[in-house]
Order: sequence, then structure tokens, then C-alpha cells
Amino acid sequence: NFRCRSAFKLLEIDDKFRLLQPGCSVVDCGASPGAWSQVAVHRVNSAGTDPAAPPGTVVGIDLLHIPPLDGAHFLSCHDVTIPPTHAKLLELLPGGQAHVILSDMAPNASGFREMDHVKLITMCFSLLDLAEKILLPGGSLLCKYWDGILAHELQEKLSRVFNSVQTLKPNASRKDSAERYFLARIYKKPEK
Ligand code: SAM
Repeated sequence: NFRCRSAFKLLEIDDKFRLLQPGCSVVDCGASPGAWSQVAVHRVNSAGTDPAAPPGTVVGIDLLHIPPLDGAHFLSCHDVTIPPTHAKLLELLPGGQAHVILSDMAPNASGFREMDHVKLITMCFSLLDLAEKILLPGGSLLCKYWDGILAHELQEKLSRVFNSVQTLKPNASRKDSAERYFLARIYKKPEK
């Protein structure tokens, strides 16, 4: 049983793109209450359920409390967008590296669509700083955004450091919502 229906969005995306392989290290940003982490734990085998497959790692982060989950390491009450959290992640991940960064983060909606859009896109920009610190070359980033004027800018920034960037609207996402996901694959370290 999943903690939240959002699990079905990640299942749908991962069934199609197979981001979460046994043995992978995954960072789940905005993880509370933990449904995406449940999916990730299962797929990367971080609870060691399948002794024949390599065990992966799942680290979830949220501003809120995240109830414990077998196979996941949670940083509750942590802000994903600030460097001290990045430093903690570096310590928790094997070799300080991740294969996949997931983000279903969302700010508390104010109801002003454009303002909420800008807030969430700004949070997504910070994921690029995080990627630079922890994401393995060839790695993937899946991040939620609300569509609006800055979506192109985010897509462009992603395209500079990933070989492939696409927009996804899972069937499990409400048709009338502005919610979208960018799936960015094959990370190349940014040129300095
Ligand atoms: N994917 C989750 C699941 O399946 O259980 C649901 C995530 S919920 C839609 C969005 C979460 O993002 C909220 O729990 C919120 O607290 C978190 N969040 C928002 N801003 C954040 C930030 N700066 N750092 C960490 N988490 C944040």
C-alpha cells in the first residue's frame, strides 16, 4: 500500500523509462509522506528484498517530517535548496554520488498561479546545483514543475547539461492541473 496516490505517477514514468534499476542510488527531493520513496526502495532494491539483485540506496529529503521506511534514509526537516543539505547528501550517498535525482517538490500554493509557478521553477533551478555536486555522468533528473512563463528557461538550462530533456504529463496527473515533469537524461558535467 502506498502512502499517497502520487506513487502512481512515478510508477507510470518508471515503467516507461526504467530510471530506477537495482543497485542505483536515488535522491528523492520533497519526499514526504514517502510514496515515491516506497516506489524507489522497491525498484532499486535498497531494502535488499531481492538477494539476487544488487542493493541500491534511497535518500529522501523534506521540509516536513517523513515517517520511517525500511530501505530509505530520510532527512526530515531539511531544505533541499540550500548547500548545507547538499553537504549532508554527499555524506549519505555511497561515494557521494547518485544515479537519479527525483523531485516531486512543491511549495505551499498561494493560489496565485504565476507566483506559485515562479517559486517552483526557482526550486527546480537549485536542483541543477545539487546535480553538479552529486549526479553521476549519465545520470537522470526527474522534476515536477507547474507550467508557465519560466518553463522554457528551465528546459534550456537542463538541455545544457543533459543530452535529452522531455516534458511528461503522466495519466495519473490531473488533466486540468498545470503540473508537468521534466525528465532529463544522460547528465554531462557542466563546462566551467
Ligand atoms: N512525492 C511525495 C510522495 O510521493 O509522498 C509527495 C511530495 S509533495 C507533492 C511535495 C513536498 O515537497 C511537500 O512534502 C513539501 O514539504 C516538500 N517541499 C517543498 N519545498 C521543499 C524544500 N525546499 N525542501 C524540501 N522539501 C520541500
